[in-house]
Amino acid sequence: MSVEDIKKARTAVEFNRENLESVLRGRFFYAPAFDLYGGVSGLYDYGPPGCAFQANVVDQWRKHFILEEDMLEVDCTMLTPYEVLKTSGHVDKFSDWMCRDLKTGEIFRADHLVEEVLEARLKGDKAARGISEADVEEDADKKKRKKKVKQIKAVKLSDHVVKEYNEVLAKIDGYSGPELGELMVKYNIGNPVTGEALEAPKAFNLMFETAIGPSGQLKGYLRPETAQGQFLNFNKLLEFNNSKTPFASASIGKSFRNEISPRAGLLRVREFLMAEIEHFLDPEDKSHPRFHEVKDVKLSFLPREVQEAGSTEPIVKTIGEAVESKMVDNETLGYFIARISQFLLSIGVDETKMRFRQHMANEMAHYAADCWDGELLTSYGWIECVGCADRSAYDLTVHSKKTKQKLVVRQKLDEPVEVTKWEIDLTKKLFGPKFRKDAPKVEAHLLNLSQEELASKGEELKNNGKIVFKVDGVEGDVEMDDKFVTIEQRTKTEHVREFTPNVIEPSFGIGRIIYSVFEHCFWSRPEDTARAVLSFPPLVAPSKVLLVPLSNHKDLAPVTAEISKLLRREKIPFKVDDSGVSIGKRYARNDELGTPFGVTIDFESIKDGSVTLRERDSTKQVRGSAADIIKAIREITYNGASWEEGTKGLAPFVSQSETETETE
Ligand code: AMP
Repeated sequence: MSVEDIKKARTAVEFNRENLESVLRGRFFYAPAFDLYGGVSGLYDYGPPGCAFQANVVDQWRKHFILEEDMLEVDCTMLTPYEVLKTSGHVDKFSDWMCRDLKTGEIFRADHLVEEVLEARLKGDKAARGISEADVEEDADKKKRKKKVKQIKAVKLSDHVVKEYNEVLAKIDGYSGPELGELMVKYNIGNPVTGEALEAPKAFNLMFETAIGPSGQLKGYLRPETAQGQFLNFNKLLEFNNSKTPFASASIGKSFRNEISPRAGLLRVREFLMAEIEHFLDPEDKSHPRFHEVKDVKLSFLPREVQEAGSTEPIVKTIGEAVESKMVDNETLGYFIARISQFLLSIGVDETKMRFRQHMANEMAHYAADCWDGELLTSYGWIECVGCADRSAYDLTVHSKKTKQKLVVRQKLDEPVEVTKWEIDLTKKLFGPKFRKDAPKVEAHLLNLSQEELASKGEELKNNGKIVFKVDGVEGDVEMDDKFVTIEQRTKTEHVREFTPNVIEPSFGIGRIIYSVFEHCFWSRPEDTARAVLSFPPLVAPSKVLLVPLSNHKDLAPVTAEISKLLRREKIPFKVDDSGVSIGKRYARNDELGTPFGVTIDFESIKDGSVTLRERDSTKQVRGSAADIIKAIREITYNGASWEEGTKGLAPFVSQSETETETE
C-alpha cells in the first residue's frame, strides 16, 4: 500500500463519532470521572493509553518549544490568592454569558445557544429547499440531541434571513452579553426544547472560588490559566536569564474553569492541562531572529475583516506574506503561529483541518495588540485549541502598579541619549508629621505614578498650588501643596533604557488538542469497517511495538524474552501479546490503540534470530535481525525517518498466510 493508497483508504469510510467514542472508552483512553457515583459533567479521568498519549504529546511540546528555544520552565501553584486575580482582571471580567429558564431552571451559555439554534434553522432551511440529504445529514450523536431542538423543522427561510443568520454565525465569538440578548429577542430564541423565553444573558464568572487556610479569611481561586504565575516570577526569571531580553518562560499544568454547560467530551471540561508560553520582548522591536526559518510555512488564515464581512472562507498564504502585509501584527507573533502549526502537525493533526482565526475587535481583550486562535476542525465544528495573543505590557504593568514593585528591563545603551521626563521629589521629613501611619502608603503611591499621571499631577500642582488624590488603603482624599512635593519635566543624559516588556503568549489546551488528534487519526479499513485504526504518528503513539509470538509454543518464549530485553534497553515502549488468538486479531486490537509496529516471532526466529516488522497503516512487512528491526523502529519513531528510509536494507516479507493473517 503506497502513501497515496493509505490516504485514500483513510477517508473511504465516513467518520463516525460513536465508533470513535466506543473505541476511546472501550480501550480506556479516558472515561467520565466518578462514574460509579453517576459522574460530574466536565470532569474526566485518563486511562493507560490516554495517559501515555498525553505524556508523549507533552514531551514533544517540551522538545519542540522549551528545548528548541531554550525557554525557562516554571511550575507554579494552582491555588491563587484573590488579590492576584483581582489585579489581573479575572475577578471582574473572566466570565461567560448565561441565560436561565426561570420555569425549568435550565441554564444555557448564551453564545452557544444562539449558535446552535441558528445552525439548526439553517439545516431545516436546507432540508426544506431539498438540498442533498448528505448535506443535512449529521452524525448520530448530534442527531439525537438536535431531535430535541424544537426549531429543527424543515422550514424554508427567506434568502435575506439565511444571509443574516450566516453573518451572525461568522461573528458569533465577538458579541457582548447585551448583544446576545438582543439577538435572542430579534430571532425569537428561547429554550430550544420548550420554546419558552429565557432570562436576559447574565455574566457568570468561570473561576472556582475557595478559602486558603483554616480561618477562611484568605480568599482564593483555582487558577484559570498558568500565565499569572509566570508574570509574578518575571524579575527572578529575568535575573536567571542574566537580565537579557527577549526570553520566554513556559509552564505546563492544570487549570480550572467552571464552564456553564460542559458538553462535547474532552473539548469543554472543568479541569484541564494547559501548556503556556510567555515570550517577553522589547515593545519597540518585535522582530524574531529565527523568523526566516518559518517564513515559507503556508497556512489557512481567517482574518478579522473576512469574519466581519460575514464569511468563513480562509485565505491561504505564507506566514512571511501574512506578516509583511501586516495581516499578522509582528514577526514574533507570526513566528509562534508557524511553530504552533508545526507542532500540531508533528503530533498527528490533519493539515486540511487546521486554520488560524484572528480575534475580532470586540472579542479581543482591550489590552491585546493582536490575537489568533489555532482552530482544529472536528465533528463538533471548528474548535479553538491554541490561543496566540500579543498581550502587550498589560499584565506586568498592572501587577507592578498593585505591588509597587518594578517589573521592568534595564538595558545599557550603546550611545547615551538625552531624555526629557517628568520627575517627582518628595520632602519626606514633612510626610511623617502630616500623614502619620499612612505616610509610607502615600509615599509609595507617589513614587509609582506613571509618566502620564505625573504630567497630569504636575499641571495640577502648577495651576492650583496643590494636588489632591486617592491612595489605596487610606481613607478620604489626600491633599498636599508644593512644600511637600515638586513635579517637573527635566532633561537628562541616560545610559540605561528602562522598559516594561510586551508579552506574546501561545496558550495550548492539551485535552482539546488530544481529542482533535483522536478524530483526525481515526479511520476504519474499507475491506472491514468493523476494524478501527488510530493512525497516531509513532512519536506520540501510546505504545510503539506489539511483540507477537506466532503461537504460545514454549520454544518461542526465550526469543520473546530476549527481544523484550532489547526493547527495554532501547527504552522503546512495547507490549507482548502471547494470547492464543490469531495474529490478525492481535494486530487489530492494537491498531485500535494506535500501536504503529508489530514484531512477529516465529520458528525461523529460533533458528536465525530474524523477526518480522509490520507497519500498522499499510500492513507492509519486512524481515531482518532483531537488532536491525529495532534500529528501524528507533529511526522511524524518534528520528523522523519514513517507513521507506527506516527499513532500507531490510528484506520485504510476504507471509504465506498474509491474507489470512490480516483479515482473520
Ligand atoms: P484561553 O485562555 O481561553 O484562550 O484558553 C487557552 C486554551 O485553553 C484554549 O485554546 C483551549 O485549548 C484551552 N481551553 C480553554 N477552556 C477550556 C475548557 N473548558 N476545556 C478544555 N480546554 C480549554
